[in-house]
Amino acid sequence: MKPTGGICVIGVQWGDEGKGKIVDWLAERSDVVVRYQGGGNAGHTVVVRGQKFVLHLIPSGILHPGRLNVIGNGVVLDPEQLLAEVDELRGKGVAVGRNLAVSNRAHLVMPYHKLLDRLGEEGQGEAKIGTTNRGIGPCYADKAARIGIRVGDLYHPSYFRERLARALAEKNRILRALYGHPPLRAEAIAERYLAWARRMRPFVADTVELLNAQAARGKRILFEGAQGTLLDLDFGTYPFVTSSNADACGVSAGTGLPPKRIGCVLGVVKAYTTRVGSGPFPTELTGPEGDRLRERGGEYGATTGRPRRCGWFDAVAVRHAVLVNGIDAFAVTKLDVLDDLAEIPVCTAYRVRGRRLTTFPADIRTLAEAKPVLTSHPGWRTSIRGARRYRDLPVAARRYLESLTRQLGVRLEMVSVGKDREETIVVDACR
Ligand code: GDP
Repeated sequence: MKPTGGICVIGVQWGDEGKGKIVDWLAERSDVVVRYQGGGNAGHTVVVRGQKFVLHLIPSGILHPGRLNVIGNGVVLDPEQLLAEVDELRGKGVAVGRNLAVSNRAHLVMPYHKLLDRLGEEGQGEAKIGTTNRGIGPCYADKAARIGIRVGDLYHPSYFRERLARALAEKNRILRALYGHPPLRAEAIAERYLAWARRMRPFVADTVELLNAQAARGKRILFEGAQGTLLDLDFGTYPFVTSSNADACGVSAGTGLPPKRIGCVLGVVKAYTTRVGSGPFPTELTGPEGDRLRERGGEYGATTGRPRRCGWFDAVAVRHAVLVNGIDAFAVTKLDVLDDLAEIPVCTAYRVRGRRLTTFPADIRTLAEAKPVLTSHPGWRTSIRGARRYRDLPVAARRYLESLTRQLGVRLEMVSVGKDREETIVVDACR
């Protein structure tokens, strides 16, 4: 399929599907790579010829010379983190300059966002969402409450100080009343942010104009989703979700490119399921089978190092993601992690209070009660990491993939059989 608009790469499950590697592969075939939501809580891991890069804010296209990388208005930005990432990339020999543009409309993550994130979670006990404490949620909350501060405000220092004083007056009252925390000082914060603003200056742009101009010139645009559909603020497992639209629906609001500029939605889906943080997870394996998936798959968070919860592929949840994103094709990742299994169960329905359910429930309490109905597939019990063409895969592996794509009505575009760029099978490229 040759789409006329950009390609949107979306996580189909609870994030950590291996989007970084797929985006990296597609970035090679794109002119512009765009992040449109989330913040430094995302963590893509890309391995290029044995060298590991962990990217939090900067799009993976940065690893490909000549690509323009855009951090869109929908992203919430911690300038300290952005600049640290720039320094780290430069330290590893990656050029960062005119190839990076940061939206002047993106909201700034402020020190009180991080502080309130942490203090808020600590007080939640069992109801903890499991945030990364990077201030993302509180920053989006301020955006909606209209007391947020945007990147562009930094370049009008007196206005920036005004906005900061206003927000801080409220935050300091909350910090004192709810947490007995001493007040934060506006001047100290302003000095740090204005110093970072000077270093960020070369990157800051009106990315709405920039992106629309690129699209009008027929440039190939890649939208890089962070997190995953089941963590989407509207369509995920609320309240155990992230604070932005992590699915294809977030692209336009987070970039200023109209929906018709999306040509193809590629869903990145792990051959099994993982989840970080709290919340219901019907196919979770809490015993040795889960430990085995975690160890073989290296399922520890790229940002936090937290162990991920692991379980079997959940076709009910994935079907929901297919629906809300309009997924055209799948990139199935980490198939090699299943290499030594004799049997591979897949969840095809839920059983809830004696009823069979094939739709993903909006009600979190129903999801918490859901027991997976599993169908078993024979394993292939051999290493597939050397496979480079679809036909190199063992018959059982192909049957497994075909069963998933058939029941979900989605075309298979790519299969990832290892961490490295080369360990990828392209079945039917859309670019
Ligand atoms: P993302 O946020 O969706 O990009 O996912 P992460 O980067 O957090 O997690 C993906 C992890 O799996 C990284 O360590 C990748 O190097 C690794 N990975 C990606 N694809 C594969 C694969 O096909 N097989 C194996 N074994 N590892 C993979």
